[in-house]
Amino acid sequence: MPQEGTLAQRLLGGDRRALARGISLVEDDDPRGWELVREVYPQTGHAAVVGITGAPGAGKSTLIGALITRRRAADRSVAVLSIDPSSPFTQGALLGDRIRLTEHFLDPGVFIRSMANRGALGGLSEATLQAALLMDAAGRDDVYLETVGVGQAEVDVIDHADTVVLVLMPGSGDSIQALKAGIMEIPDVIVVNKRDHPLTDTMVREIKGILSLAPARDWTVPVVTTEAVKGEGVDELVETIAEHRAHIVEQGTLSERRRRNLRAEIVALAASRLRRRLEAGLDEDPEFARLLDEVVARRVDPASAAATLLERQEAKDIA
Ligand code: GDP
Repeated sequence: MPQEGTLAQRLLGGDRRALARGISLVEDDDPRGWELVREVYPQTGHAAVVGITGAPGAGKSTLIGALITRRRAADRSVAVLSIDPSSPFTQGALLGDRIRLTEHFLDPGVFIRSMANRGALGGLSEATLQAALLMDAAGRDDVYLETVGVGQAEVDVIDHADTVVLVLMPGSGDSIQALKAGIMEIPDVIVVNKRDHPLTDTMVREIKGILSLAPARDWTVPVVTTEAVKGEGVDELVETIAEHRAHIVEQGTLSERRRRNLRAEIVALAASRLRRRLEAGLDEDPEFARLLDEVVARRVDPASAAATLLERQEAKDIA
């Protein structure tokens, strides 16, 4: 068993195995993972974190593969963290035609990892964010966070990206509707992938129409078209992401954004720990069972019971 200090040092030195091990510790909610993050945290904040979100099949993995090729050519090291449970990277099992990134697996400058939603302690987004920090600490220049953008955990994760890229494909009316209804937060960059599809221009027009209705911001959301399988339009996408980054650095919004996200993370971590503490031993707790009986019998309402539970917890915390 390596010493934690050693693991941290190896990780900071960019060692891939140390990074993989660190992420596993974090994913398993092992206290050594938290310790590791604590040690390396001062060395984070250098990576450009890009969130790539979009429905399954939109072409996210293909696009990330194409982005990696461009970034490697520019001599940048890359890490990909996918939280799509159906992702091709899951557990290293590459099935069927979903092998988009194999050409990159042997490149030491590329680190690819997926986080499956294990539901363990409700901490997928927690674990993902810690894993992203480790990638950053390991000196990866670019970190891509891939999500299918449906669950709250995914939204929490994508919020931590410096630049959020939404990937759509022509003919997917649902995505347009979601964007229109404002269900989808306005991303920083929109990609219409599969531009070989005849409905591409129509879709771009529709998206621009919707964007023109959104309140004016200091950043005009660009709509980039790509054909990821052929790598077409990808240079422009790289350029657009870089422009967005330059913009937020210049405007000071990058540090504002990071501050807001770190605030959210502190609160989320504290809340999940409080919840864990509150729920610990509750099932075997006769006093709580009696309280629950009272609520079931409609003699005490749930909110009053919650107040009692909190009071008891506070008393326990003081003791
Ligand atoms: P993901 O689920 O969003 O990661 O999507 P994938 O990257 O797995 O791509 C889904 C399918 O779309 C795959 O069969 C890809 O080969 C295909 N695909 C990706 N990009 C393009 C494109 O630009 N044009 C076309 N025609 N197909 C594409």
